[in-house]
Amino acid sequence: MTSESARLSTAAELVSPRSLADSAPPAAPPTHALAPDEAHFLIGWLRERDVECPGCGYNLRNLTQPSCPECREPLRLVVSLEPTRFLTLVAAVAPSIFAGLFAGVLLFMIVIHPGAPWQIVTATVFGVISGLATLALLAGRQRYLKMSRAAQIGWATTIWFVHLFIYGVLIASTA
Ligand SMILES: [Zn+2]
Repeated sequence: MTSESARLSTAAELVSPRSLADSAPPAAPPTHALAPDEAHFLIGWLRERDVECPGCGYNLRNLTQPSCPECREPLRLVVSLEPTRFLTLVAAVAPSIFAGLFAGVLLFMIVIHPGAPWQIVTATVFGVISGLATLALLAGRQRYLKMSRAAQIGWATTIWFVHLFIYGVLIASTA
């Protein structure tokens, strides 16, 4: 991965805040050609750089047209956040994704074996709430990503702490 903040993207892999916000499927290839100045800038940018095609890995150095010579994918330059910017978001939603999936399993067990202990019921309710909260976080992720790195780490740490605490108390109370 290059450390440049600008990077290459195939048209099918656009990473713009707009497309992220809409939770839409990947953008369809553009129906019109790249503006001449954009194509010129792309080709100029690749003149001195070894950059792999995001689609097939072909080295695009000295590209002469704004598409991959190997896989024919149209190419364009995009502005994106540093990939590490998303790590705290992944860290923040990871426990909730686990909790939500775990709640699904527990719910299945409760249905199969009625009269489950209160710890199981609590873990199920907590997992459902946690799962819904993480969906809300993902829907509002632009606001999360705008926070300072320290605030993001603080939120992710808090979320981990709450989950470990709840599951720790529930497991301890069954002993
Ligand atoms: Zn390619």
